[in-house]
Amino acid sequence: MKIGIPKGLLYCKYYPFVNNFFSELGAEIITSEDTNREILDLGVKFSVDDACLPVKIFHGHVASIKDKCDFIFIPRFMEVDKGQSICPKFCGLPEMVKNSIPELPQIITEPIYGLNDKKLWEFSRKIGKRLKKDRKSIEKAFIDSLAIQKKFNVGKYDKNYKLKIALVGHPYNIYDNFTNMDIIKKLNKMNIGVVTEEYVEKESIDEEVNKLFKRPFWTFARNSYGFAAHVGEHKKVDGIIYISSFACGIDSVVIELIKDKLNNFPILVLKVDEQTGEAGVETRIEAFTDMLERRCS
Ligand code: SF4
Repeated sequence: MKIGIPKGLLYCKYYPFVNNFFSELGAEIITSEDTNREILDLGVKFSVDDACLPVKIFHGHVASIKDKCDFIFIPRFMEVDKGQSICPKFCGLPEMVKNSIPELPQIITEPIYGLNDKKLWEFSRKIGKRLKKDRKSIEKAFIDSLAIQKKFNVGKYDKNYKLKIALVGHPYNIYDNFTNMDIIKKLNKMNIGVVTEEYVEKESIDEEVNKLFKRPFWTFARNSYGFAAHVGEHKKVDGIIYISSFACGIDSVVIELIKDKLNNFPILVLKVDEQTGEAGVETRIEAFTDMLERRCS
């Protein structure tokens, strides 16, 4: 049994669990390649025009492996944190893909309601049953995969750099080097360190979010706002770069909230879509980092 796993959207955060779980159930894992030009072109070809870049890229990953596997895993995230909502594109992702890409193999779309142990067990049990595995094997695969996932931290916290920048945005923009044009490497080369939201305590994020007149109920909005507000307010970084997907409703609100909160704090917003050119992005990063250096000298 070959199971296709597209390397798009939240794969960057949860692949240790997913890959290990399916492998332990005896499947051969077929992952797509890291995002590249061909995958983006496939995504643009198959998805609807007004989808955001990460959703288009996800379509490209699916299209690139659909003929190589018996099943394809298209996660239907209903929430990632208890009581918080997620962008509706995650809940409807399987339908979007099914209706846009022809001749798919069977798809695995069991909903994921939160990432606590109990909810993940429910999800794993259903998938294991569907793949006709016995309860003991499913339980073992689940426990092992959860342990591997818990040890994994995708975040970045650079030390020993003169200047530090907080990289804010959805995980699939921050950790997909094709989408963000390898921004972390570029900044490090300029001798600038990077910090991501995983290195700020949940309590600090909540504290900032709770100060808002109306609290955002979407997980990504809460995390991006709370992280940026915390590091900006406490001057834990010298500037903020927000990587935003063109046409993302959540980003458009969160960016304004951050600017409103941090007033004159240096913030660069990089909007990315399939037309974004690397040269233009590099120029903007250089201008921004020059400005930060002047401020600090
Ligand atoms: S949150 Fe924004 S970038 Fe992410 S899937 Fe939804 S619309 Fe796209």
